[in-house]
Amino acid sequence: MHWFTAAFLLALALSTSARLWLALRHARYVARNRDAVPPDFSGRIALSTHRKAADYTVAKTRVGMIETMVAAALLLGFTLAGGLQWLSDAWGYVVADGGYLHGVAVIVSVVLISAAVDVPFSMYRVFGIEARFGFNRMSLALFFADLAKQAALGAVVGIPLIFVALWLMARAGAMWWLYVWLAWMGFNLLLMIVFPTVIAPLFNKFSPLSDAELRGRIERLLARCGFRSKGLFVMDSSKRSSHGNAYFTGLGAAKRIVLFDTLVARLAPPEIEAVLAHELGHFSRRHVWKRMVLLFGASLALLWGLAWLMQQGWFYAALGVRTQSDATALLLFFMIAPVFAFPLRPLASFYSRRHEFEADAYAARHADAGDLARALVKLYEDNASTLTPDPLHSVFYDSHPPAVLRIARLQTSHP
Ligand SMILES: [Zn+2]
Repeated sequence: MHWFTAAFLLALALSTSARLWLALRHARYVARNRDAVPPDFSGRIALSTHRKAADYTVAKTRVGMIETMVAAALLLGFTLAGGLQWLSDAWGYVVADGGYLHGVAVIVSVVLISAAVDVPFSMYRVFGIEARFGFNRMSLALFFADLAKQAALGAVVGIPLIFVALWLMARAGAMWWLYVWLAWMGFNLLLMIVFPTVIAPLFNKFSPLSDAELRGRIERLLARCGFRSKGLFVMDSSKRSSHGNAYFTGLGAAKRIVLFDTLVARLAPPEIEAVLAHELGHFSRRHVWKRMVLLFGASLALLWGLAWLMQQGWFYAALGVRTQSDATALLLFFMIAPVFAFPLRPLASFYSRRHEFEADAYAARHADAGDLARALVKLYEDNASTLTPDPLHSVFYDSHPPAVLRIARLQTSHP
């Protein structure tokens, strides 16, 4: 066996068992703490709500475990079991082997197969779990309409991008990775610009916030924080789910604030103001830019790594592929990269949690910390987020600090 095959199998076995072990720990920990609301939340969260959150978390974690196993099997199927080689050969009978069209066909096939494997899982999540816990508002027709729109959007946006990448790989010389990176950055910036006005409206309706009191409050908050925005919108998220949220979207002065209608219905105006102050904190502390710089830096390093690896004959052979083409190199690389990058996950989560604390601190300065704490409790309740995650699972995966820590910090800033 080639050493790289062994390294890949070892990394896959380790990361898959680590994922399963963390999930199992999490489910057990949550179940063990199911019958007692943590002391910090007693009186604020009912025992029945706490139990519902526990059951919901366990149900989601279980499906996640099955997905982890299926993903590992699919990866082995594409690589060592010869799936990718088979697809490459099969398309070779249809279009000219090694041409751009062949490359695009192979890549699109892999994307479609992966998406098809994902559909039953999303259906189970929406119509099984979300429905069982009373969160789902989506009809089967809407689910498939969304799927069709996503597929069409993926084709319109993704296929030209694959063409450009393959063309640059073939024509741009030894520095192709730099040009692909520039194209990728440009594409991402363009996506950020067109997302709020072109893409998001394909899936949801956005109406200007009509509530005058709330509007006044938010405008005063924005003025206080020195923040300019191109509008305040309410999104009809209730047609899919009863979970609540708020977000900022767009770039530069074209930034928009989007509130889920479920959030507007559930939170009091001062609480919504506090949630938005938290989001403003992410902007003011430049979290969005920092994250983008990090992502762009990582993608440059990845592309450079790919440029080196794809010149090594063993890279293909060790992963079950005989046909050395730009398309198979791209696919193999981006299939196996997450396996080797898994140990970096806690670092990314730590970085994200630090940003959340900073945004909370900003919100406590520019709005009312007590309102934010009250809003968070309602959101934990509505989203049935567990208040008792397994500590190790949380360190590994959680982008947001555990509820207990977050609320405790807010309370010390608001005696
Ligand atoms: Zn945040």
